[in-house]
Amino acid sequence: MPQQFLEFQQQVEAVKTRYMAGEIGETERNDLIRQMNYHDAAWDDVWMLSPKGEWFRKATGSKVWIRDYPIALVDPDTLPPITEMNAHQVARVVHDCTRCGLHEGRKRAVPGEGPVPADIMLIGEGPGATEDQQARPFVGASGKFLDELLAQAGYKRAEVFIGNVVKCRPPNNRDPQPDELAACKEYLDRQVELVQPKVIVTLGRFSMYRYFPGASITKIHGQSKRVGDTLIVPMFHPAAALRNPAWRALLIEDFQKLPALVKEATSFRQPEPPAVNTTQLSMF
Ligand code: URA
Ligand code: SF4
Repeated sequence: MPQQFLEFQQQVEAVKTRYMAGEIGETERNDLIRQMNYHDAAWDDVWMLSPKGEWFRKATGSKVWIRDYPIALVDPDTLPPITEMNAHQVARVVHDCTRCGLHEGRKRAVPGEGPVPADIMLIGEGPGATEDQQARPFVGASGKFLDELLAQAGYKRAEVFIGNVVKCRPPNNRDPQPDELAACKEYLDRQVELVQPKVIVTLGRFSMYRYFPGASITKIHGQSKRVGDTLIVPMFHPAAALRNPAWRALLIEDFQKLPALVKEATSFRQPEPPAVNTTQLSMF
């Protein structure tokens, strides 16, 4: 499997070499590279390597290309402890993980996706059926709604990191159990460290409990709490809001607060302004 990815990578490199040698121009090089696809028969995904060297994936049953890195290219024999992994390595171990019973029923694990670092990190509950098929978070009905919520707040989905408290689909979308949440926690902890979000939005009860144990979402939704240099803001789960019109309106309202929250959290990380020498000022 890695061999095929490496061969594809070499084919792309060969096009770049022709450009370097002056055989083809830049436009032709880019066009050629963009036309090159690798179909991964194991998962029915299609892969592309951009002229800049970034990998993109089009998942089974999806029409969109997303930035993703082939886990086949992450060497499983040289993985550091989770607390020292990069995002690709986390995705690799999640893909193969058997730490809890949820691995038995999954088609594919859903590590999460988005830029690292990112200003905003959304944390959902766990994959549903579509997510389990595509190995992508929030791509079913609630994902569509989430895209709208982000757009209405002025964000593109590709700008934010989206993860879940459990990475494998619970059977029949049942609630994740305490042992499953505990088994999966280390992956999300590491992702939060890597993403360094200014604002974390928890979607639904189970991700809210990470920061507000035992809290009631109807009471605290939309109210941010500062933890270190990050603002945590609990919100209703999009799937729940789709079923409940009152919550739907509240969720839309809460999402509108995001730009202001990002601005507020940005100030936590700015260096202190230089101290003003008040004695000197008072002389004038
Ligand atoms: N619901 C979630 O909580 N997470 C997903 O990834 C999809 C639906
Ligand atoms: Fe591993 Fe998390 Fe999947 Fe359980 S849910 S098997 S802990 S990745």
